[in-house]
Amino acid sequence: MSDFQSLGLSNTLLRAVEAEGYTTPTPVQQQSIPPLLEGRDVLGVAQTGTGKTAAFALPVLQIMNRKKPQGKRFIRALILSPTRELAAQIDERFAAYSEHMDLRHRVIFGGVNQNPQVRALQKGLDILVATPGRLLDLIGQGHIDITRVEFFVLDEADRMLDMGFIRDIEKVIKLLPKQRQNLLFSATMPKSIAKLAGTFLNNAVMVDVSPKEMTVDRIEQKIMFLRKADKRRLLVQLIKEERVKCGIVFTRTKHGANRLVKQLDQSNIAAAAIHGNKSQGARTKALAGFKNGNIPILVATDIASRGIDVDGITHVFNYDLPNEPESYVHRIGRTARAGRSGIAYAFCDDTESGYLVGIQQLIGKEIPVNSNHPFHFIGAIPKPGQKPGKIKEKSGAKKRPRNNNRNQQNRGRSNRNSDAQNKPRRGGDSKNSNPRRNRNQRGNHGGNNSNRD
Ligand code: AMP
Repeated sequence: MSDFQSLGLSNTLLRAVEAEGYTTPTPVQQQSIPPLLEGRDVLGVAQTGTGKTAAFALPVLQIMNRKKPQGKRFIRALILSPTRELAAQIDERFAAYSEHMDLRHRVIFGGVNQNPQVRALQKGLDILVATPGRLLDLIGQGHIDITRVEFFVLDEADRMLDMGFIRDIEKVIKLLPKQRQNLLFSATMPKSIAKLAGTFLNNAVMVDVSPKEMTVDRIEQKIMFLRKADKRRLLVQLIKEERVKCGIVFTRTKHGANRLVKQLDQSNIAAAAIHGNKSQGARTKALAGFKNGNIPILVATDIASRGIDVDGITHVFNYDLPNEPESYVHRIGRTARAGRSGIAYAFCDDTESGYLVGIQQLIGKEIPVNSNHPFHFIGAIPKPGQKPGKIKEKSGAKKRPRNNNRNQQNRGRSNRNSDAQNKPRRGGDSKNSNPRRNRNQRGNHGGNNSNRD
Protein backbone atom coordinates (compact mmCIF):
# COMPACT_ATOMS: atom_id res chain seq x y z
CA MET A 1 0.00 0.00 0.00
CA SER A 2 1.58 3.23 -1.01
CA ASP A 3 -1.12 5.85 -1.22
CA PHE A 4 -4.17 7.01 0.64
CA GLN A 5 -6.62 5.59 -1.91
CA SER A 6 -5.53 2.05 -1.22
CA LEU A 7 -6.35 2.49 2.47
CA GLY A 8 -10.06 2.64 1.69
CA LEU A 9 -10.62 6.34 2.31
CA SER A 10 -13.57 8.09 0.66
CA ASN A 11 -13.13 10.62 -2.13
CA THR A 12 -14.17 13.41 0.21
CA LEU A 13 -11.30 12.62 2.55
CA LEU A 14 -8.88 12.00 -0.29
CA ARG A 15 -9.58 15.54 -1.47
CA ALA A 16 -8.90 16.90 2.01
CA VAL A 17 -5.68 14.93 2.34
CA GLU A 18 -4.54 16.13 -1.07
CA ALA A 19 -5.29 19.72 -0.09
CA GLU A 20 -2.98 19.22 2.90
CA GLY A 21 -0.24 18.13 0.52
CA TYR A 22 0.05 14.59 1.84
CA THR A 23 1.00 12.13 -0.87
CA THR A 24 2.05 9.03 1.03
CA PRO A 25 0.53 7.72 4.25
CA THR A 26 2.95 7.52 7.15
CA PRO A 27 3.56 4.06 8.71
CA VAL A 28 1.12 4.70 11.56
CA GLN A 29 -1.53 5.75 9.03
CA GLN A 30 -0.91 2.72 6.83
CA GLN A 31 -1.28 0.39 9.75
CA SER A 32 -4.14 2.05 11.65
CA ILE A 33 -6.57 3.31 9.01
CA PRO A 34 -7.70 -0.05 7.52
CA PRO A 35 -8.50 -1.78 10.87
CA LEU A 36 -10.20 1.37 12.17
CA LEU A 37 -12.38 1.52 9.06
CA GLU A 38 -13.35 -2.08 9.78
CA GLY A 39 -14.53 -1.03 13.21
CA ARG A 40 -11.62 -2.51 15.19
CA ASP A 41 -10.08 -0.98 18.31
CA VAL A 42 -6.47 0.17 17.85
CA LEU A 43 -3.60 0.49 20.29
CA GLY A 44 -0.99 2.71 18.67
CA VAL A 45 2.55 3.24 19.91
CA ALA A 46 3.44 6.46 18.17
CA GLN A 47 4.48 9.92 19.20
CA THR A 48 3.51 13.34 17.92
CA GLY A 49 5.14 13.92 14.55
CA THR A 50 4.40 10.49 13.13
CA GLY A 51 1.08 11.53 11.57
CA LYS A 52 -0.97 9.80 14.24
CA THR A 53 -3.68 12.46 14.33
CA ALA A 54 -4.67 11.73 10.75
CA ALA A 55 -4.33 8.01 11.53
CA PHE A 56 -7.30 8.26 13.88
CA ALA A 57 -9.13 11.36 12.59
CA LEU A 58 -9.55 10.17 8.99
CA PRO A 59 -11.29 6.84 9.71
CA VAL A 60 -13.37 8.35 12.51
CA LEU A 61 -14.59 11.08 10.14
CA GLN A 62 -15.27 8.58 7.39
CA ILE A 63 -17.44 6.33 9.55
CA MET A 64 -19.22 9.26 11.16
CA ASN A 65 -20.00 10.77 7.79
CA ARG A 66 -21.35 7.45 6.46
CA LYS A 67 -24.25 7.16 8.87
CA LYS A 68 -25.56 10.37 10.35
CA PRO A 69 -28.23 10.19 13.02
CA GLN A 70 -31.38 12.27 12.67
CA GLY A 71 -32.26 15.13 14.99
CA LYS A 72 -30.06 17.40 17.07
CA ARG A 73 -26.32 16.75 16.97
CA PHE A 74 -24.79 14.89 19.89
CA ILE A 75 -21.21 14.05 20.77
CA ARG A 76 -20.33 10.96 18.77
CA ALA A 77 -16.54 11.19 18.98
CA LEU A 78 -14.59 12.15 22.08
CA ILE A 79 -10.85 12.76 21.89
CA LEU A 80 -8.99 13.20 25.16
CA SER A 81 -5.65 14.95 25.07
CA PRO A 82 -3.32 15.85 27.97
CA THR A 83 -2.40 19.41 27.01
CA ARG A 84 -4.19 22.42 25.67
CA GLU A 85 -1.76 22.89 22.79
CA LEU A 86 -2.13 19.34 21.63
CA ALA A 87 -5.91 19.45 22.01
CA ALA A 88 -6.03 22.63 19.93
CA GLN A 89 -3.87 21.08 17.26
CA ILE A 90 -5.99 17.95 17.06
CA ASP A 91 -9.04 20.14 16.62
CA GLU A 92 -7.24 22.08 13.89
CA ARG A 93 -6.53 18.80 12.09
CA PHE A 94 -10.20 17.80 12.36
CA ALA A 95 -11.08 21.15 10.80
CA ALA A 96 -8.74 20.50 7.87
CA TYR A 97 -9.78 16.91 7.23
CA SER A 98 -13.55 17.48 7.63
CA GLU A 99 -13.63 20.53 5.43
CA HIS A 100 -16.04 18.94 2.94
CA MET A 101 -18.24 17.28 5.55
CA ASP A 102 -21.15 18.43 7.61
CA LEU A 103 -19.62 17.47 10.95
CA ARG A 104 -19.18 19.97 13.75
CA HIS A 105 -16.15 19.80 16.03
CA ARG A 106 -14.87 21.86 18.93
CA VAL A 107 -12.00 21.89 21.40
CA ILE A 108 -12.38 22.62 25.11
CA PHE A 109 -9.65 23.06 27.72
CA GLY A 110 -9.08 24.75 31.06
CA GLY A 111 -7.38 28.04 31.79
CA VAL A 112 -9.82 30.06 29.69
CA ASN A 113 -13.36 31.27 30.21
CA GLN A 114 -15.75 28.39 29.78
CA ASN A 115 -18.69 30.41 28.44
CA PRO A 116 -17.82 30.31 24.72
CA GLN A 117 -17.23 26.58 25.10
CA VAL A 118 -20.61 26.12 26.76
CA ARG A 119 -22.33 28.09 23.99
CA ALA A 120 -20.73 25.87 21.33
CA LEU A 121 -21.80 22.78 23.24
CA GLN A 122 -25.36 24.04 23.47
CA LYS A 123 -25.54 24.46 19.70
CA GLY A 124 -24.69 20.79 19.29
CA LEU A 125 -21.46 19.04 18.29
CA ASP A 126 -20.44 15.81 16.60
CA ILE A 127 -16.79 15.73 17.69
CA LEU A 128 -15.36 16.98 20.97
CA VAL A 129 -11.63 17.33 21.64
CA ALA A 130 -10.96 17.94 25.33
CA THR A 131 -8.47 17.97 28.15
CA PRO A 132 -9.71 15.82 31.04
CA GLY A 133 -10.11 18.51 33.72
CA ARG A 134 -12.35 20.84 31.74
CA LEU A 135 -14.29 17.91 30.30
CA LEU A 136 -15.21 16.58 33.74
CA ASP A 137 -15.90 20.09 34.95
CA LEU A 138 -18.45 20.71 32.20
CA ILE A 139 -19.93 17.23 32.54
CA GLY A 140 -20.37 17.98 36.25
CA GLN A 141 -22.20 21.19 35.35
CA GLY A 142 -24.50 19.33 33.00
CA HIS A 143 -23.18 20.94 29.82
CA ILE A 144 -21.76 17.78 28.27
CA ASP A 145 -23.35 14.41 27.67
CA ILE A 146 -20.98 11.63 26.61
CA THR A 147 -23.41 8.76 26.95
CA ARG A 148 -23.83 8.36 23.18
CA VAL A 149 -20.16 8.45 22.17
CA GLU A 150 -19.32 6.04 19.35
CA PHE A 151 -15.57 6.74 19.16
CA PHE A 152 -13.34 7.27 22.15
CA VAL A 153 -9.74 8.34 21.49
CA LEU A 154 -7.20 8.56 24.30
CA ASP A 155 -4.20 10.41 22.92
CA GLU A 156 -0.73 10.62 24.48
CA ALA A 157 -1.83 8.14 27.12
CA ASP A 158 1.62 7.91 28.73
CA ARG A 159 1.72 11.64 29.25
CA MET A 160 -1.80 11.54 30.67
CA LEU A 161 -0.64 9.12 33.33
CA ASP A 162 2.54 11.12 34.00
CA MET A 163 0.38 14.15 34.61
CA GLY A 164 -1.80 12.35 37.12
CA PHE A 165 -4.90 12.08 34.94
CA ILE A 166 -5.57 8.41 35.58
CA ARG A 167 -8.55 8.95 37.89
CA ASP A 168 -10.06 11.46 35.51
CA ILE A 169 -9.71 8.98 32.65
CA GLU A 170 -11.36 6.26 34.70
CA LYS A 171 -14.24 8.60 35.52
CA VAL A 172 -14.70 9.46 31.85
CA ILE A 173 -14.64 5.81 30.77
CA LYS A 174 -17.34 4.96 33.31
CA LEU A 175 -19.63 7.54 31.73
CA LEU A 176 -19.21 6.23 28.18
CA PRO A 177 -21.67 3.77 26.64
CA LYS A 178 -20.54 0.12 26.47
CA GLN A 179 -20.86 -0.11 22.69
CA ARG A 180 -18.15 2.04 21.10
CA GLN A 181 -14.89 1.94 19.16
CA ASN A 182 -11.73 2.73 21.13
CA LEU A 183 -8.35 4.08 20.17
CA LEU A 184 -5.41 4.54 22.45
CA PHE A 185 -2.21 6.26 21.34
CA SER A 186 0.89 6.49 23.44
CA ALA A 187 4.51 7.41 22.71
CA THR A 188 5.74 4.64 24.99
CA MET A 189 4.21 1.44 26.27
CA PRO A 190 5.11 1.00 29.94
CA LYS A 191 3.20 -1.57 32.00
CA SER A 192 0.83 1.08 33.34
CA ILE A 193 -0.37 1.86 29.81
CA ALA A 194 -0.73 -1.80 28.88
CA LYS A 195 -2.85 -2.20 32.02
CA LEU A 196 -5.00 0.80 31.17
CA ALA A 197 -5.39 -0.43 27.59
CA GLY A 198 -6.57 -3.78 28.93
CA THR A 199 -9.38 -2.09 30.83
CA PHE A 200 -11.14 -0.59 27.85
CA LEU A 201 -9.82 -1.84 24.51
CA ASN A 202 -11.48 -4.89 22.94
CA ASN A 203 -9.38 -7.22 20.86
CA ALA A 204 -7.34 -4.24 19.68
CA VAL A 205 -4.96 -4.21 16.73
CA MET A 206 -1.53 -3.14 17.91
CA VAL A 207 0.35 -0.65 15.76
CA ASP A 208 3.91 0.09 16.79
CA VAL A 209 5.92 2.89 15.23
CA SER A 210 9.16 2.92 17.10
CA PRO A 211 10.30 6.42 17.98
CA LYS A 212 13.91 5.30 17.94
CA GLU A 213 13.89 4.66 14.22
CA MET A 214 12.37 7.97 13.36
CA THR A 215 14.50 10.15 15.59
CA VAL A 216 17.91 8.68 15.09
CA ASP A 217 17.77 8.60 11.32
CA ARG A 218 16.90 12.06 10.11
CA ILE A 219 18.07 14.21 12.99
CA GLU A 220 21.70 15.15 13.32
CA GLN A 221 22.49 14.99 17.01
CA LYS A 222 25.40 16.61 18.82
CA ILE A 223 26.40 16.66 22.44
CA MET A 224 28.50 19.50 23.83
CA PHE A 225 30.17 19.20 27.25
CA LEU A 226 30.49 22.43 29.16
CA ARG A 227 30.01 24.18 32.49
CA LYS A 228 26.53 25.28 33.43
CA ALA A 229 27.68 28.90 33.56
CA ASP A 230 28.80 28.76 29.92
CA LYS A 231 25.56 27.42 28.47
CA ARG A 232 24.08 30.78 27.67
CA ARG A 233 27.16 31.98 25.80
CA LEU A 234 27.35 28.80 23.76
CA LEU A 235 23.65 29.04 22.92
CA VAL A 236 23.99 32.64 21.76
CA GLN A 237 27.05 31.75 19.72
CA LEU A 238 25.30 28.83 17.98
CA ILE A 239 22.12 30.78 17.27
CA LYS A 240 24.12 33.60 15.72
CA GLU A 241 26.64 31.45 13.85
CA GLU A 242 23.99 29.20 12.38
CA ARG A 243 21.55 32.08 11.78
CA VAL A 244 18.75 30.12 13.40
CA LYS A 245 15.37 31.32 12.12
CA CYS A 246 13.21 28.65 13.68
CA GLY A 247 14.61 26.93 16.74
CA ILE A 248 13.31 25.64 20.03
CA VAL A 249 15.29 25.65 23.28
CA PHE A 250 14.33 23.33 26.12
CA THR A 251 14.90 24.22 29.73
CA ARG A 252 14.02 22.04 32.69
CA THR A 253 12.17 24.70 34.65
CA LYS A 254 9.69 27.45 33.95
CA HIS A 255 11.84 29.94 35.78
CA GLY A 256 14.84 28.89 33.71
CA ALA A 257 12.82 29.48 30.54
CA ASN A 258 11.83 33.00 31.60
CA ARG A 259 15.36 33.89 32.60
CA LEU A 260 16.80 32.61 29.35
CA VAL A 261 14.35 34.66 27.27
CA LYS A 262 15.56 37.80 29.06
CA GLN A 263 19.19 36.84 28.55
CA LEU A 264 18.67 36.15 24.86
CA ASP A 265 16.97 39.50 24.56
CA GLN A 266 20.09 41.14 26.00
CA SER A 267 22.04 39.47 23.20
CA ASN A 268 19.57 40.84 20.63
CA ILE A 269 17.92 37.50 19.98
CA ALA A 270 14.12 37.62 19.95
CA ALA A 271 12.65 34.76 21.95
CA ALA A 272 9.45 33.86 23.75
CA ALA A 273 8.82 31.41 26.57
CA ILE A 274 6.06 28.85 26.62
CA HIS A 275 5.26 26.99 29.83
CA GLY A 276 2.48 26.25 32.25
CA ASN A 277 2.72 29.46 34.25
CA LYS A 278 1.99 31.55 31.19
CA SER A 279 -1.60 32.51 30.54
CA GLN A 280 -3.31 30.79 27.67
CA GLY A 281 -3.30 34.10 25.79
CA ALA A 282 0.46 34.50 26.22
CA ARG A 283 1.06 30.94 25.08
CA THR A 284 -1.10 31.32 22.01
CA LYS A 285 0.62 34.61 21.16
CA ALA A 286 4.09 33.12 21.61
CA LEU A 287 3.24 30.13 19.42
CA ALA A 288 1.65 32.34 16.76
CA GLY A 289 4.73 34.60 16.67
CA PHE A 290 6.95 31.56 16.37
CA LYS A 291 4.85 29.98 13.64
CA ASN A 292 4.71 33.12 11.52
CA GLY A 293 8.45 33.67 11.81
CA ASN A 294 8.44 36.86 13.91
CA ILE A 295 10.01 35.11 16.88
CA PRO A 296 12.89 32.87 15.80
CA ILE A 297 13.43 31.18 19.16
CA LEU A 298 10.89 29.50 21.41
CA VAL A 299 12.05 28.57 24.91
CA ALA A 300 9.92 25.77 26.29
CA THR A 301 9.58 23.33 29.14
CA ASP A 302 8.86 19.71 28.30
CA ILE A 303 5.20 19.59 29.10
CA ALA A 304 4.35 22.80 27.29
CA SER A 305 6.18 21.55 24.24
CA ARG A 306 3.93 18.55 23.82
CA GLY A 307 1.99 19.01 20.69
CA ILE A 308 3.96 21.97 19.40
CA ASP A 309 3.52 21.09 15.79
CA VAL A 310 5.45 23.59 13.76
CA ASP A 311 6.87 22.50 10.46
CA GLY A 312 10.27 23.87 9.63
CA ILE A 313 11.93 23.82 13.06
CA THR A 314 15.58 23.49 12.04
CA HIS A 315 17.22 23.44 15.48
CA VAL A 316 16.44 21.92 18.84
CA PHE A 317 18.65 22.94 21.74
CA ASN A 318 18.59 20.82 24.89
CA TYR A 319 19.80 23.69 27.06
CA ASP A 320 19.23 21.48 30.09
CA LEU A 321 19.25 17.74 29.60
CA PRO A 322 15.92 16.21 30.57
CA ASN A 323 15.90 13.95 33.60
CA GLU A 324 13.51 11.57 31.83
CA PRO A 325 15.27 10.01 28.83
CA GLU A 326 12.01 9.73 26.85
CA SER A 327 11.70 13.51 26.93
CA TYR A 328 14.89 13.75 24.89
CA VAL A 329 13.27 11.73 22.12
CA HIS A 330 10.16 13.91 22.23
CA ARG A 331 12.19 17.09 22.25
CA ILE A 332 14.38 16.30 19.28
CA GLY A 333 11.30 15.05 17.44
CA ARG A 334 10.16 18.70 17.23
CA THR A 335 12.58 19.04 14.34
CA ALA A 336 12.86 16.87 11.21
CA ARG A 337 9.10 16.77 10.84
CA ALA A 338 7.24 16.02 7.65
CA GLY A 339 10.29 14.44 6.06
CA ARG A 340 12.70 17.31 6.62
CA SER A 341 16.03 17.09 8.39
CA GLY A 342 17.10 18.94 11.50
CA ILE A 343 19.83 19.33 14.06
CA ALA A 344 19.55 18.73 17.79
CA TYR A 345 22.19 20.07 20.17
CA ALA A 346 22.39 18.84 23.74
CA PHE A 347 24.32 20.78 26.37
CA CYS A 348 25.62 18.58 29.17
CA ASP A 349 27.18 20.04 32.31
CA ASP A 350 28.87 18.11 35.10
CA THR A 351 25.62 17.57 37.01
CA GLU A 352 23.87 16.13 33.97
CA SER A 353 26.22 13.43 32.69
CA GLY A 354 24.08 10.74 34.36
CA TYR A 355 21.09 11.95 32.37
CA LEU A 356 23.15 11.61 29.21
CA VAL A 357 23.96 8.00 30.09
CA GLY A 358 20.21 7.29 30.45
CA ILE A 359 19.39 8.99 27.15
CA GLN A 360 22.08 7.07 25.26
CA GLN A 361 20.81 3.82 26.72
CA LEU A 362 17.29 4.61 25.55
CA ILE A 363 18.20 5.57 22.00
CA GLY A 364 20.70 2.74 21.79
CA LYS A 365 23.64 4.76 20.55
CA GLU A 366 26.21 7.31 21.59
CA ILE A 367 25.44 10.85 20.53
CA PRO A 368 28.42 12.31 18.59
CA VAL A 369 30.42 14.81 20.64
CA ASN A 370 31.20 18.26 19.34
CA SER A 371 34.17 19.55 21.32
CA ASN A 372 34.99 22.19 18.76
CA HIS A 373 33.75 25.16 20.78
CA PRO A 374 35.42 27.48 23.31
CA PHE A 375 33.60 26.10 26.35
CA HIS A 376 34.42 22.39 26.08
CA PHE A 377 34.74 20.95 29.61
CA ILE A 378 35.95 17.39 30.10
CA GLY A 379 34.62 17.31 33.67
CA ALA A 380 31.10 16.94 32.24
CA ILE A 381 31.88 13.79 30.24
CA PRO A 382 30.30 10.66 31.80
CA LYS A 383 32.81 8.49 33.65
CA PRO A 384 33.41 4.96 32.34
CA GLY A 385 30.70 2.66 33.69
CA GLN A 386 28.65 5.55 35.01
CA LYS A 387 25.06 4.63 35.84
CA PRO A 388 22.08 6.52 34.44
CA GLY A 389 20.65 9.22 36.68
CA LYS A 390 21.86 12.34 38.34
CA ILE A 391 25.31 12.77 39.79
CA LYS A 392 25.20 14.42 43.18
CA GLU A 393 26.78 17.83 43.24
CA LYS A 394 30.04 17.78 45.14
CA SER A 395 29.88 19.57 48.46
CA GLY A 396 32.59 21.95 47.31
CA ALA A 397 30.76 22.80 44.13
CA LYS A 398 29.54 26.12 45.47
CA LYS A 399 33.11 27.26 45.96
CA ARG A 400 33.96 27.17 42.32
CA PRO A 401 36.44 29.90 41.38
CA ARG A 402 34.14 31.30 38.69
CA ASN A 403 32.94 34.11 40.90
CA ASN A 404 31.14 36.00 38.24
CA ASN A 405 28.76 33.11 37.69
CA ARG A 406 28.15 32.09 41.24
CA ASN A 407 25.35 34.48 41.92
CA GLN A 408 23.55 33.33 38.88
CA GLN A 409 23.83 29.70 39.95
CA ASN A 410 22.66 30.45 43.45
CA ARG A 411 19.74 32.38 42.14
CA GLY A 412 18.72 29.36 40.10
CA ARG A 413 18.95 27.15 43.17
CA SER A 414 16.90 29.38 45.40
CA ASN A 415 14.15 29.52 42.85
CA ARG A 416 13.97 25.84 42.24
CA ASN A 417 10.99 25.35 44.49
CA SER A 418 8.83 27.57 42.39
CA ASP A 419 8.92 25.37 39.38
CA ALA A 420 10.30 22.15 40.74
CA GLN A 421 11.07 19.62 38.02
CA ASN A 422 8.56 20.82 35.50
CA LYS A 423 6.68 17.62 36.12
CA PRO A 424 3.39 18.24 37.83
CA ARG A 425 2.79 16.25 40.93
CA ARG A 426 0.05 13.73 40.77
CA GLY A 427 -3.16 15.69 40.88
CA GLY A 428 -1.06 18.85 40.66
CA ASP A 429 -3.70 20.86 38.90
CA SER A 430 -6.43 19.27 40.88
CA LYS A 431 -8.39 22.48 40.53
CA ASN A 432 -8.95 21.50 36.97
CA SER A 433 -9.63 17.87 37.60
CA ASN A 434 -12.13 18.15 40.40
CA PRO A 435 -15.41 19.40 39.03
CA ARG A 436 -16.97 20.20 42.37
CA ARG A 437 -14.05 22.17 43.69
CA ASN A 438 -13.70 23.92 40.40
CA ARG A 439 -17.19 25.26 40.50
CA ASN A 440 -17.04 26.26 44.11
CA GLN A 441 -13.72 27.99 43.90
CA ARG A 442 -13.71 29.63 40.56
CA GLY A 443 -17.22 30.14 39.47
CA ASN A 444 -17.69 29.45 35.82
CA HIS A 445 -14.62 31.09 34.47
CA GLY A 446 -11.92 28.51 34.58
CA GLY A 447 -9.85 30.76 36.84
CA ASN A 448 -6.14 31.22 36.46
CA ASN A 449 -4.00 29.34 34.16
CA SER A 450 -3.00 26.08 35.76
CA ASN A 451 0.39 24.79 36.61
CA ARG A 452 -0.33 21.70 34.65
CA ASP A 453 0.46 22.50 31.05
P1 AMP B 1 0.95 14.35 14.04
O1 AMP B 1 1.89 13.21 14.37
O2 AMP B 1 -0.42 13.91 13.87
O3 AMP B 1 1.11 15.47 15.03
O4 AMP B 1 1.39 14.95 12.60
C1 AMP B 1 2.63 15.60 12.42
C2 AMP B 1 2.66 16.45 11.15
O5 AMP B 1 2.72 15.63 10.00
C3 AMP B 1 1.46 17.36 10.97
O6 AMP B 1 1.93 18.62 10.60
C4 AMP B 1 0.68 16.75 9.84
O7 AMP B 1 0.00 17.74 9.10
C5 AMP B 1 1.76 16.06 9.03
N1 AMP B 1 1.32 14.85 8.32
C6 AMP B 1 0.43 13.93 8.75
N2 AMP B 1 0.30 12.94 7.86
C7 AMP B 1 1.12 13.25 6.81
C8 AMP B 1 1.45 12.60 5.57
N3 AMP B 1 0.90 11.44 5.24
N4 AMP B 1 2.33 13.21 4.77
C9 AMP B 1 2.91 14.38 5.12
N5 AMP B 1 2.66 15.05 6.27
C10 AMP B 1 1.78 14.47 7.11
